[in-house]
Amino acid sequence: MKDFTNDSRGLERYSRHLTLPSWGKKGQKKIKAASILLVGVGGLGSPISLYLAGAGVGRLGLMDDDHVSVSNLPRQVLYSTDEVGQSKVGIAQKRLTRLNPDVEVLAFSERLTDENAPEIIKDFDLVLDGTDNMVTRRIINQTCVRLDKPYIFGAVNRFDGQVSVFHASRGPCLECLFPDLPEEEREKTEEELAILNTVPAIIGALQVTEALKLILGMADLLVGRLLLFNALEPSIQCIQFQKKDDCKVCG
Ligand SMILES: [Zn+2]
Repeated sequence: MKDFTNDSRGLERYSRHLTLPSWGKKGQKKIKAASILLVGVGGLGSPISLYLAGAGVGRLGLMDDDHVSVSNLPRQVLYSTDEVGQSKVGIAQKRLTRLNPDVEVLAFSERLTDENAPEIIKDFDLVLDGTDNMVTRRIINQTCVRLDKPYIFGAVNRFDGQVSVFHASRGPCLECLFPDLPEEEREKTEEELAILNTVPAIIGALQVTEALKLILGMADLLVGRLLLFNALEPSIQCIQFQKKDDCKVCG
């Protein structure tokens, strides 16, 4: 691993983080040593991946089998009009490497399934949720519980967003919060697809904040708490929830 502390440009790149309380070179080295899998590089995944790469996460896996469409562009800020039709992970890998060449960006141009999830997730320290469906979230949750990996959940709809941190060894999991997650996804209605473009930016930034705090061992995480954001009021509130003894995933 290249040591950024011996490199003046490396020190300059992270200078605004290095001077934060309880960060320093030691904290930055922890971030450099960390590996994160981001499942879904769309509305949430765009800001998530940009901020993770900017912060200098050492290894970043991007997973998505989708291609860029015009209706993505208002909120999927990784992509440009001339990239419509191209593979999202391919473009994202190039863009993020340009943003920060210190980051090793791995592209998985496939969908997360019950079959491939354990093999892929085992090589990462934690998983960030950039998906738009509960079926993929169920797969992430089950695999993370089994492998005891932290899972940073994010979801958005219309003017609202949610964030939480699931880690079976320290608190409840996604299934404790939303029992009976679906095995199959149904087609979303136009109303369910509606989304204000800034909402995923806010929720994605909160997910990255939790990821960096987790890596650095800083402050309280959203374990056993669901953060609810509403853009219209505007408001942020946290509600607590418990681990279920009879949870069919982590109980
Ligand atoms: Zn559970």
